[in-house]
Amino acid sequence: MQKVDVVVGGGIAGLLAALLLAERDGRKVVVVERESQVGGLLRCFDYAENGVFDYGMHNMYETGIAPLDELLFGLLPNEDWQLLERSARDRAGVVFNGVVQHNSPFPDLRSLPRAKWESCVLGFFRQLEKREFHSHDNAWEDVSARFGTAVAEVIDSALLKQFGKPAKELASFATRLTTLSRVVMFSEDPFSNLMESSTIRERLAWPEQRTLPAHWESGRKAYYPKKYGMYRVINALLARLDAAGVEVLTGAQVLSLEMGEGRVKALTLDYSGGRKEIEQLNQLVWTSGLPAMAQLLSLDISGYSFDPPRKTVVVNLLLKKPPNMGDLYYLYCYEPGCHTFRITNFAGYCEGAPRAGGWPVAVELLLDAPLPDAESLKRVALEELKRFKVIASIDEVNFVAAEPLASGFPMPSTNNFKALADIRGRIAAAKLDNLTLLGILSEEDVFFQRDVLAQTWTKLTHQEGMNG
Ligand SMILES: Cc1cc2nc3c(=O)[nH]c(=O)nc-3n(C[C@H](O)[C@H](O)[C@H](O)COP(=O)(O)OP(=O)(O)OC[C@H]3O[C@@H](n4cnc5c(N)ncnc54)[C@H](O)[C@@H]3O)c2cc1C
Repeated sequence: MQKVDVVVGGGIAGLLAALLLAERDGRKVVVVERESQVGGLLRCFDYAENGVFDYGMHNMYETGIAPLDELLFGLLPNEDWQLLERSARDRAGVVFNGVVQHNSPFPDLRSLPRAKWESCVLGFFRQLEKREFHSHDNAWEDVSARFGTAVAEVIDSALLKQFGKPAKELASFATRLTTLSRVVMFSEDPFSNLMESSTIRERLAWPEQRTLPAHWESGRKAYYPKKYGMYRVINALLARLDAAGVEVLTGAQVLSLEMGEGRVKALTLDYSGGRKEIEQLNQLVWTSGLPAMAQLLSLDISGYSFDPPRKTVVVNLLLKKPPNMGDLYYLYCYEPGCHTFRITNFAGYCEGAPRAGGWPVAVELLLDAPLPDAESLKRVALEELKRFKVIASIDEVNFVAAEPLASGFPMPSTNNFKALADIRGRIAAAKLDNLTLLGILSEEDVFFQRDVLAQTWTKLTHQEGMNG
């Protein structure tokens, strides 16, 4: 009997893993998804005549791994992709220091009072002289070593706004989850020579994203379904999986694993209210979080106290006219007291986004539990859209819906990252040859989609010899 590869989690990581195993490696594959639909964060909300909306901002970015990029791009016909290249690859802004910045998604320190800007500049160059670029336990140590204390204070308050915790309680990775790994400090003229230095380039951002000199561009493209909706990528993956004979079980979960000889030998699923055994297991690919895997391995994780993530709520709106965001695709928000994490103008990067006489916009809110009712959530989003002048009045809004996500942004606290590192180490210590961990935070720096996809490709490519 042919052995089976089981992929747990039907998000884009799990579906890509299943495709690689089935199409490329000729394996028999079963996908196990807990929800009634696959797609994970790339599913959609469907509001009938008001159209479908992504779960906030998601896009396809080239990974730099040529065969993987070719595979992903090949999921839809060429003409069905909206190509986003050069300075149009990604156009993002930020609300910082009361200013709606269109020039860069990184905080532009030039909008600070002159004396504060000067202390940021002085502190930055003094810090370069110290050359204290050792490893860091938290985001405060990281940013103060990279930028000096004055800039670190600016980043600290932006992190506090986004995650509800000061930089000292957050992992360095928190600065990359949002646009706080660099700052804008100088105008183009004085900065163009400084950009030659990699030390400077890693810390300071080009002041106008639309004029970045070509030789500093990554050369990578982004692309998005022209007719709108990341669910089209998921549907295309599903069609390929179907053709390759992959079995996709929704409403299914792993109940228990059977281990022996350094491998996961078999597993039991909870499926359709009953049990299903997979006895001839070749490989187990897990994309559904480390704590759940640890529990299946009977590792005691009750001693860890995780800091809860803020709740992510996506507020979807149809506007009667385009949002006042210029050519930006999305806008972050570092204004203290606001709940907006990001505002996305879908029509900015997708010509098929407008529908039903309206322009779709999403506001991703981050709030502490308990959440207020849906009407209050909508009010928060609308008030903040008015405050940032994205809309002039609520009369411009045709439709609005608030959608709390079951799993949203993680809490990047040092406490959580230490616990995850520990759990990762304990799972590795179990030395199970045929277990592969993929997906969000399966490794310390893996969160963004392109990193998740690159990790899936790399890990499964290096295991090609694993045939049962
Ligand atoms: C709010 C938010 C915004 C984001 N914005 C961006 C962005 O702008 N750019 C970017 O590059 N990346 C972004 N990301 C990250 C990006 O969405 C992820 O990298 C990518 O979607 C991860 O895919 P995945 O398959 O690993 O996870 P998911 O899409 O979460 O899929 C995991 C799947 O596993 C299923 N599952 C969970 N537990 C179990 C279980 N026990 N058994 C069976 N199934 C289970 C879930 O139902 C889900 O379908 C964002 C993430 C979030 C949360």
